[in-house]
Amino acid sequence: MGKEQTIQTTCPYCGVGCGVLATPQADGTVSIEGDSNHPANLGRLCSKGSALGETVDHGNRLLHPKIDGKRVPWDEALNTVSRKFNDIIAKHGPNAIGFYVSGQILTEDYYTANKLMKGFIGSANIDTNSRLCMSSAVAGYKRAFGSDSVPCSYEDLEQADLLVITGSNLAWCHPVIFQRIRQAKEDRPEMKVVVIDPRTTATCDLADLHLPLRPGSDASLFNGLLNYLKKEDYLDLDFLEQHTEGFSAALKAAKTSAGNIPQVSAVTELPEQDIIKFYQLFASTEKVITLYSQGVNQSTSGTDKSNSIINCHLATGRLGKPAMGPFSMTGQPNAMGGREVGGLSNQLAAHMEITNPEHHDRVSRFWETDRLATENGAKAVDLFNDVGEGKIKAVWIMATNPVVSLPDADKVKAALEQCELVVVSECESNTDTTELADILLPAAAWGEKDGTVTNSERRISHQRQFLIAPGEARPDWWIITQVARKMGFEKAFPFEKPVDVFREHARLSAFENNGSRDFDLSGLAEISDEAYEKLAPIQWPVSDNAPAGTARLFTDYQFFTPNGKARMVPIEPKLPENKTSDDYPLVLNTGRIRDQWHTMTRTGRAVRLNAHIPEPMVQIHPVDAQNWGLVDGALAQVSSKLGKMIVRVVITDEQRPGSVFVPIHWSNQSASLARVDALVAAVVDPISGQPESKHTPVKIRPY
Ligand code: SF4
Repeated sequence: MGKEQTIQTTCPYCGVGCGVLATPQADGTVSIEGDSNHPANLGRLCSKGSALGETVDHGNRLLHPKIDGKRVPWDEALNTVSRKFNDIIAKHGPNAIGFYVSGQILTEDYYTANKLMKGFIGSANIDTNSRLCMSSAVAGYKRAFGSDSVPCSYEDLEQADLLVITGSNLAWCHPVIFQRIRQAKEDRPEMKVVVIDPRTTATCDLADLHLPLRPGSDASLFNGLLNYLKKEDYLDLDFLEQHTEGFSAALKAAKTSAGNIPQVSAVTELPEQDIIKFYQLFASTEKVITLYSQGVNQSTSGTDKSNSIINCHLATGRLGKPAMGPFSMTGQPNAMGGREVGGLSNQLAAHMEITNPEHHDRVSRFWETDRLATENGAKAVDLFNDVGEGKIKAVWIMATNPVVSLPDADKVKAALEQCELVVVSECESNTDTTELADILLPAAAWGEKDGTVTNSERRISHQRQFLIAPGEARPDWWIITQVARKMGFEKAFPFEKPVDVFREHARLSAFENNGSRDFDLSGLAEISDEAYEKLAPIQWPVSDNAPAGTARLFTDYQFFTPNGKARMVPIEPKLPENKTSDDYPLVLNTGRIRDQWHTMTRTGRAVRLNAHIPEPMVQIHPVDAQNWGLVDGALAQVSSKLGKMIVRVVITDEQRPGSVFVPIHWSNQSASLARVDALVAAVVDPISGQPESKHTPVKIRPY
């Protein structure tokens, strides 16, 4: 950590997981470069990553533990949290405690939080903000493959002859992957790109074909594709016979809902000739990747949508081979690491399941606990409903800002206002959520702590420390470990440094794993402190059979289902649950912009990032703008049944008529009436629990 010593680390923003070279300078600044040795980015960085050096000041940092707004010593804060947790558990049982964690924390933090909550407090009421970004993709993979396994690598994207990008503005949300694809297309102009998105985004710059479908109609489009593949004789019958089950039922459902092109056109509102063009491209190209993200996942039928995509790959045998497969991109830097340790309330560590008796027994024995949670806990939206209803009496929020980022955000705020005990671990002193905390615990930020993250292609990278944490800020794993010990679980939390946690995490993945579980780090289970320090980016599984990691899964077509076959799922497409009406005639779509991250607590510090889009805005089609009397550059009020916000009007024909787009980033700390999630209804996918953040009926008027 000496001045001007270059440290290899990773970017703390999106799920691409780029390698970064950070060099602290004598004047306190940090110079940042892309790491050309990191396989995720090969030296590239996007605007956010390259501005990281401008975001490491301590301007708004939370520097000391606080109780009721007053600074207290660490010991007093930790004693108070543990005593109050124990009191509440004694009085109301373990389910009266809730944890809400984040895809921003490191795997070691995530593992420790899950072990404490599920293994020793004895409740699975721990969920993560990753529920909002990829839980439908997880549920889709598990239904199809029997495991939460992303089959492909970034290299596959470059080698594909057809890349179908659906529900993703990759150019802004995963910019380095977009750069890699753009380069690949320049090198091989015969590579085709189809973008499926109601909006015309920057990603469409690469599109040979853009399909601006009706919002929410994706499953009909892919059901129609499955039907087309059958009709036109493009199925891989041997693959279907030997390696899948459920084809007939899946095809029957596809025929019913999307039996012919006019039917698909009527639902998706796409021209028939464009649908045929897409179907022909898919059918006639062997190397096809379908990449998807929040536009598919954030839906009341997100799991079904992901299975409608996977069905088409299974029907043509297009996975397990180079440049083929369904590929979900994760939003956050460590959403994938969170999945590995069981960060979702319906998971156990190492991709095991709470309600599977064999898994439950195995984890109980490994952790030497008789308190392991026996039932799934509340998913994010339900968890805060439980806080509001008083079922959860104490909630510990870690590295996330739910008062801004959860749907029906005012309800979340009200729930926290009346909660008996709100503990918030944060780097920032002043967020919409820290305002409601009874106890504030100062957390070390990016660059100030050490641990691992896993990116969208299953690649584990070491995120290293190169700065001293300011004030009394501490790493999350350390804070959780201290609370666990003070609650009486000293023996189970012997961790003194991140590698202690990582080794245990790797050993659990290997424990009684005879190849029956996809997540396997047995090759790292005995990693030395020194090897951990030097750990080079590596894709799991890492085992004796694959000591250098695994680029591609399912090359042997063995899936993690009871009979080893992949499952095709019959999909009956459902349109979004939130329907427009005369009172709320427009569809509100929310998402990211290029130069901001989450609620802007870090990116908001960089002047050049703020220059891109400096204030909350709404994008609206010229025809809609005229209908509602809006003027470009003026202010407008957007309102739903739940709330309202004030935004700058941007009139653009890139927006589909009938729908508007508002970014997710602004909070009441950065502008007044700026939280878009105060408008979004908290309706969720019944399987994944992921909220429908892309389809809220709203109205708009000049302000
Ligand atoms: Fe890479 Fe994403 Fe960071 Fe940009 S934000 S540098 S694409 S990890």
